[in-house]
This record gives sequence, structure tokens and C-alpha cells, in this order.
Amino acid sequence: MSKRTKIKALLESTQTDIQVTVMGWVRTFRNNQFIALNDGSTNNNIQIVVDFENTDEALLKRITTGASLKVVGQLVASLGKGQKVEIKATEVEILGDSDPEKYPLQPKKHSLEFLREIAHLRFRTNTFGAIFRVRNSLAFAVHKFLQEKGFVYLHTPVITASDAEGAGEAFKVTNFDIANPPRTESGEIDYKQDFFGKATNLTVSGQLEGELGAMALSDIYTFGPTFRAENSNTTRHLAEFWMIEPEMAFYDLEDNMDLAEGLLKYVISYALENNREDLEFLSQRLQEEEKSKPQNERSEMSLLDKLQFCLDNSFERLTYTEAIDILKESTPNKKKKFQYLIEGWGADLQSEHERYLVEKHFKKPVILTDYPKEIKAFYMRQNDDGKTVRAMDILFPGIGEIVGGSQREERLEKLEQRMAEMGIPAEELWWYLDTRRFGSCPHAGFGLGFERLVLFVTGMGNIRDVIPFPRFPKNAEF
Ligand code: ATP
Ligand code: MN
Repeated sequence: MSKRTKIKALLESTQTDIQVTVMGWVRTFRNNQFIALNDGSTNNNIQIVVDFENTDEALLKRITTGASLKVVGQLVASLGKGQKVEIKATEVEILGDSDPEKYPLQPKKHSLEFLREIAHLRFRTNTFGAIFRVRNSLAFAVHKFLQEKGFVYLHTPVITASDAEGAGEAFKVTNFDIANPPRTESGEIDYKQDFFGKATNLTVSGQLEGELGAMALSDIYTFGPTFRAENSNTTRHLAEFWMIEPEMAFYDLEDNMDLAEGLLKYVISYALENNREDLEFLSQRLQEEEKSKPQNERSEMSLLDKLQFCLDNSFERLTYTEAIDILKESTPNKKKKFQYLIEGWGADLQSEHERYLVEKHFKKPVILTDYPKEIKAFYMRQNDDGKTVRAMDILFPGIGEIVGGSQREERLEKLEQRMAEMGIPAEELWWYLDTRRFGSCPHAGFGLGFERLVLFVTGMGNIRDVIPFPRFPKNAEF
């Protein structure tokens, strides 16, 4: 098997009239003669020409959409239009049959909704092949960018006893017989008897542990799955998603924003360079899809233009307070078109507001800073005004929030005081507070939602289509 050549390499080959071996899955078989074969190395198929007059009838019948084949033949310059090379088959072997009556993926257009139901097979479509190759490149580029800056990839635990945001949206992890858990005398569930001797959950963020690493290794990042039992029935939320969380010692908010903007631009340019064909295909797909929308809802830029635009322009940086002023005076607010009207300072921004700022007002990515402390987490560094914290959110067109981060509160007293105000038990986070007791220093970090990044780069509309097997309410199939 090792002698086979991937289709991507064959299509790029400058050599012809050589014997080659390919393996892949049949996309189509025309006129009992032309096989379009794909092996996932590229969106393009290679054409196999079968000498049907000298091929067994029974074998020809088994060359059906979805079947997997081994083909040996001559790589030759193609006579037909649409491809430079093709393979004149000398030997066709069926490795796996595919009953055309039962194969769910017919060679025609299927809706994304339908493909979600057959997520185990959707990798075999052009769209999902392209998405998952782009996803792979983006993941690699994240590592490459951070590694080249000397960041240490740190693996933080998936099972934790802390709920970093304190939002109570964590999935519980227990070994108890759920119908009959042991109880204390007062009738509460006795987690002392559970596997870990305390209540535990799946992590919602690796940040707190990440900070511990940064307070010795200087620059670290996590890149792993996180879990949120929030109502994730939106096109932007999953119950299980991947997050990149860099934490850096001796960084202030400015440094933090520069790093995040640099990372986003790097990975986008990496994909543009290394996944050109796939992105061209996805750009085309988006244009097709948009044809069914009314003129005024279509985007002004193609996907490729949008990605390039993002690289060529610096992200607009402004404070939450400045953003509120813009939103208060905005037409949709005055005409009461927002679902949540902006009455004044302090309101949490909804995605309609974020998207207005990005898509209508600035028409480019935006970084909002210095949010009211009431709507942000306890660990964010408090500003001298007593009202705001050194938070930053990066907002992207079509996506809304893609990054959430902050300079962290490094002053023990301030941190303890804020935790007390917010009712976060200091005993449980003794280890976190220890870093502020021993050699504390200014530091900062952020969380980049990986699927939101993939969503932006692929131009897809639903986050469920950029992760192989999405987890969301009432769905854990596959
Ligand atoms: P949102 O307001 O959109 O729910 P958040 O404020 O809860 O986001 P953070 O807790 O700051 O988000 O998480 C950091 C990043 O993780 C976000 O900027 C986003 O990119 C991503 N993210 C958050 N929740 C989800 C989710 N349920 N599914 C996918 N990505 C998510
Ligand atoms: Mn959320």
C-alpha cells in the first residue's frame, strides 16, 4: 500500500508517462469510462480512464459513487478539458464496495442540515473536505506562531473542581450511581464519597491553571477542548469547543492586544497561503449561497477579499464607554431596531450591538477595552476609576466576539476584595491566590475560540459545520 501517491501530488506532477498507483473514493463514474477519484488530499479529483472494452462487466458495475478503489496506471497528459493530467488505468481493484441504492451521499447538492445528520460521511463532500483541511492548517499555524515566539504549550486539566467564570454552566463529572448518590446527614449529596472526594466538572476554561504556568514559564498557551452547559442553541455556540488560551507574564493590556491581533493575522495569512484552493472553493460556495439572499443582505466582499482586508487593516481599538456612546446615537438604537436598546452605561453588549460596531460603524475588526467590572470576571485587573476593568474583547464581522481576554489582577488585596464582593470562596482558589502571594507580577492573557476562528476563515454560517462532530443541546450523535 505504501507505494501509492496522493492525488494532490499527482495533479501537481510535472512528470508524465510514468506508472502510478492511486487509492481513493469514487465521486462519479461517467460513460462506463471516466472515474473521478478523490482521496482527500485536495478538493480536486483525478480522472481515471478505464479501458471498458477490455474490462470485466462485473467489475465495471462495482465502480459506484462512494466505492473505494486501488488503481494502477499511466499518468498521462489529459486530452480532455478541465485537467492537465489523468490516469490510463491498467489495473482497477475494488477495495470496498458501496451500494449505490443505499449510499446516502448522491453526487448532487445536499443541504448542510442534511449533511449534519450524516456527519460521519460529510467529510467526503467538497465543502467539508475543504473546511477540515483549513481547520487543520489553522491549528498548525496557531502552534507555529506561538512556538516561534517561545511559548510553552501547557496541558491544563479537563476535569477540574473550579468553575473559572463562576457562571455555573459546567458539566458535572461524577462516578455516583445517579439514581442513588450517597447523602450527608442533612440530605445533601456527599461528594466526599465521590471519585475525587469533591464535586468536579469538565473545564470551562484552562485559564486559571494557565496563569500558574505563566508565573514561572513566562509565556504559555493551552489549546484544548472546553465544555459549557449553556444554552448553546445558536450558530455561534457549542457545548464542546476548542480554545486557545495564551497567558503571558510581564504583559499589560496593550501587549495582550498586540499578541492577539498578531496571532489572528498570522493564522489567516497562513491559511491564505497554504489553503488557497480550498479557500477559493469556499469563497465560491459562499457566493452561490448568497445568491439566494436579498440584495441588501449580501456581503459586499467575497470571502477571500474579507480575509485579505482583515490582514491589511489594523483592528479598531476603543473603550467600552466610547462604544456605548456610538451605540446610543446609532440609527438602530434611535429607531428602536435593536432587540435590546442601549439606554446607558453598564449594559452588557449583545451580539446585535457587537455586529453593528463591526459591520456597520467601523467596517473592520474591533477591540473593545475597559468594560464595567460588573459584567466581567473576578480576575480582571481593576482600573483606578473603580468602575471598569482591563478587559478586551475582539469582535469580528459575521461572528461577534472571537477573543475575550484581560490583564489579570496581580494585586492580592484587590483580587481578594473583588472575590469577596462576588461571593467567590477564597479557600477553593488558595492555589490561584498563592501566585499573588509569592512573586506576583503584571500579566495578561486571552481565550480565542477556535471554532469561531474557523467559522470566520471558511465563511460558513453555522459553528456546527466547522467541527467534525458538534455537541449541542439534545445532540451527541457519533
Ligand atoms: P459569548 O458571549 O459569545 O458566549 P463568552 O463571553 O462566554 O462568549 P469567553 O468566556 O470569554 O466567551 O470565552 C472565550 C472565547 O471562547 C470567546 O471569545 C469565544 O470565541 C469562545 N466561546 C465562548 N463560548 C463558546 C461556545 N459555547 N462555543 C464556541 N466558542 C465559544
Ligand atoms: Mn458565553
